[in-house]
Amino acid sequence: MSRVLAIDGPSGAGKSTVARCLGRKLGFLHVDSGALYRILTWQALAYGIDTSSEDALTAFAPTVTVDFAVRDGAVVYAVAGQEPCDCIRTPEINQHASPVAKVPAVRTRVTAWLRGLRRFGDLVVEGRDIGSVVFPDSPARFYLDAAPEERARRRHTEEQQKGISALNADAVLASLLSRDRIDSSRAIAPLKVADGAQVLDTTRLSIEQVVQAVYDSLPTDWRTPG
Ligand code: C5P
Repeated sequence: MSRVLAIDGPSGAGKSTVARCLGRKLGFLHVDSGALYRILTWQALAYGIDTSSEDALTAFAPTVTVDFAVRDGAVVYAVAGQEPCDCIRTPEINQHASPVAKVPAVRTRVTAWLRGLRRFGDLVVEGRDIGSVVFPDSPARFYLDAAPEERARRRHTEEQQKGISALNADAVLASLLSRDRIDSSRAIAPLKVADGAQVLDTTRLSIEQVVQAVYDSLPTDWRTPG
C-alpha cells in the first residue's frame, strides 16, 4: 500500500506550498483535495444547480466524472477533457465551495476519488479532513494553522499576483473567516485537528522552516526519496 502524508488546515495556512515542496523532497505526488471540491462547485454552477439545496447537490454529485493523471509530480484533474485552472479559484467559487462541501453526497464522492489516488503511488495530500477522515491511518498527519490576518494577507497577495480577484484585504479576510466558520461547524468531516496529528503554527515561520519541521517529524524510513 502506498504511503500518505496528510496536511490539513484552514485556507492560507501554507498547505499548498508546503505540500508541493515536501512532495518534491520525498518523491511523493502532490494532491490538492480542495481543488476537487472546487471542481464540483464549478460544475454545479455551470449546470445551474442551486448550491444551497442539499437535495439538488445530492442528486448532482454522483453524475460528475473527473479524470485523473500524473504530471510534474502532482495528480492533475480534468472534466470532459478540460483541466480547470484559475476558473476554480474565483471569488464566486470561494463563496460557494464551503456550502457545497458540507453536503454528505459531495464528501462521499470526493473521499472515494481521493482514496483511489493511492493507485498512483505515494501521496502528499492537503485538505481539511485528510488526517481525520480520508486517511486516518496515516502515520504522518499534520495540521497547519496561522493567525487569520496573516492567512488573509497571504491569500490576498496570491490573488493579486494571479490577477484573479479584485477583493481588498478586508474582504479577503471576511471571505476566509466565513469559509472557516462553515468548514469548522459542519456536521460531517469538519475542519479540526485529527487525533494524534501534529499542529504547526506557521504565522511567523518561512515556508522552508515549515517544510523542515514537517520533514523532521516524518517516520525515519520516509526521509529518503522513494
Ligand atoms: O483548500 P481550498 O481552499 O481550495 O478548499 C476549498 C473548499 O473546499 C474549502 O473551503 C472547504 O470547504 C472544502 N474542502 C473540504 N475538505 C477538504 C478540502 C477542501 O471541505 N479536504
